[in-house]
Amino acid sequence: MVMRSCVRLCAGLSKGITSRVTAVGKVVRRIGVMLRTFAVGLVATIALIGLAHAETAELVYTNGEILTMDGDEPSYADAVVTRGGKIVFVGSEDEATRRFPDAPRRDLQGNTMLPGFLDPHGHFMFALNMVNQVNVANPPAGPSKDIPSTIEALKAFLNDKAIPKGEWIVGWGYDPEGLAEGRHITKADLDPHFPDHKVMLIHVSAHGAVLNSNALSWAKIDANTETPPGGIIARVPGTNEPAGLLMETAYLPIFENLPQPSEVELLELMTPAQMMYASEGYTHAQEGFTHLKDLHFLQKAAAEGNIFLDIVALPGFTEVSEWMGNPAYKFGEYTNGLKLQGIKFTQDGSPQGKTAYVSTPYLTGGPAGQENWRGETTQPKEDFVKQVKDAFDAGLQVFIHANGDATIDQAIEAVRKAGITAADDRRTVMVHSQFQRPDHLDQYVELGITPSYFTNHTFFWGDVHVKNIGKDKADFISPVKSAKAKGLITTNHTDFNVTPLDSMFVMWTAMARESKGGNIVGEDERVDAYTALQGLTTGPAYQIFEENRKGRIKEGLLADFVILSANPVKTDASEIKDIAVLETIKEGKSIYQAK
Ligand SMILES: [Zn+2]
Repeated sequence: MVMRSCVRLCAGLSKGITSRVTAVGKVVRRIGVMLRTFAVGLVATIALIGLAHAETAELVYTNGEILTMDGDEPSYADAVVTRGGKIVFVGSEDEATRRFPDAPRRDLQGNTMLPGFLDPHGHFMFALNMVNQVNVANPPAGPSKDIPSTIEALKAFLNDKAIPKGEWIVGWGYDPEGLAEGRHITKADLDPHFPDHKVMLIHVSAHGAVLNSNALSWAKIDANTETPPGGIIARVPGTNEPAGLLMETAYLPIFENLPQPSEVELLELMTPAQMMYASEGYTHAQEGFTHLKDLHFLQKAAAEGNIFLDIVALPGFTEVSEWMGNPAYKFGEYTNGLKLQGIKFTQDGSPQGKTAYVSTPYLTGGPAGQENWRGETTQPKEDFVKQVKDAFDAGLQVFIHANGDATIDQAIEAVRKAGITAADDRRTVMVHSQFQRPDHLDQYVELGITPSYFTNHTFFWGDVHVKNIGKDKADFISPVKSAKAKGLITTNHTDFNVTPLDSMFVMWTAMARESKGGNIVGEDERVDAYTALQGLTTGPAYQIFEENRKGRIKEGLLADFVILSANPVKTDASEIKDIAVLETIKEGKSIYQAK
């Protein structure tokens, strides 16, 4: 039943978003492909049953551009041989023939083979939930160009799924910055259209939502509700009535208490969700802030053999007292495709939501109209600093979501106060690191901090950031080139589902840094294709201590590959987005093939 709804949803979406242009057209096509992949998932399940046992036979890959990603410059191999899910040979074709005379050949037909991509930061569980939610993202990612079209999308979903009265209609990808009205949707906009349902539009940052009156009363938020520290409850001007928007700590309890799909439904969605990643060339996904209930679900899915990619989970700081030191949660190794990697702290909000904590006020005020607004941290600095030290002391790898420069200052201070430096090789990951300052980079080098950047921001919100924080600061968003020049290893993520899980698109934004409005955001930080590819291969492998397991085509590493229709290193930046993922191979098994 879930799959049938999905197919209908996908069809509806593709219909609504097919007529855009150029750069945008490519995104739309890829999103269409991504969503249709849910339908493909059913077929794939059947195919995977046949692939359940490790591939023990040898196979020789030849006749393609095999870009190994091994080294600082592009290098190629003529032949690669795999056996038992691993790479057993990389070198010349003559040598491969001599050593493996009887092995069957895989003719790459001139296409390009690379190591399988690793998702450096995203939210795997969102892929599962997306099927039961409605896309209210702005074009090109969704249909919501203004408030009426958003309401239209919600109504279509309500009718299509025949959602009973009293139940939820949840939208994902909501972003007022891309609406023609240029303001937040309010309960007053929603109430007349949805008198019998609870409606919630999840902000694209996943750090907040707009609720209608039914949803607000379910959440017990009214004129008497005080705004919690670190939270935002937007009010109807001149009154204390909630207007609809809740952010950060005011939103978190809502999100955590939402009714969830049943475990059976979720288990059914595991294959289509992984196929979304595979269709973009990813052989490795991340669950980037894992709530305990989701962790328990993933552990069950793993135990029942439902994971065919590698998935790493980052249990969140909010439930640390429940899992830290508990032997049921073992970190650092894979069990049936699932690994607990480290602890995830979220110390501020989002740049586009203006909840990132910055050192100088936003030029356009706060999200609820506040003046002299600098954003806020999620927790008081002292608590955060102490928790980071406790995590290091417990031997955990530390991942810190930090967007504003003032939050990054706090994160640096926390690492420093824990006594950790680069020599300790703890690989502390600064997730997003968006509004960072140039002076942070030397401190990252000194302390062994490795940034996971998010260049898709330059496309989706580049123009918004220029308006909100000024051109100079916006130009330094995700400074991949400057970081590399300092010797830092960086990665580049989509933060799925904040932006589409499109591997070639995220490469393009790293290379072009072109905004939706056609402006270049940070010309000096544009990188070449090889550097952009490192952000999806060697970089993420390093950040999770798996550089000797994946991220390169090298003897002894996993036989995880993606086959592309063209070689990104030899493709003009303007055409990168048009490269297609033809096939994805996980440990020697073909898990995705384009039609
Ligand atoms: Zn995230």
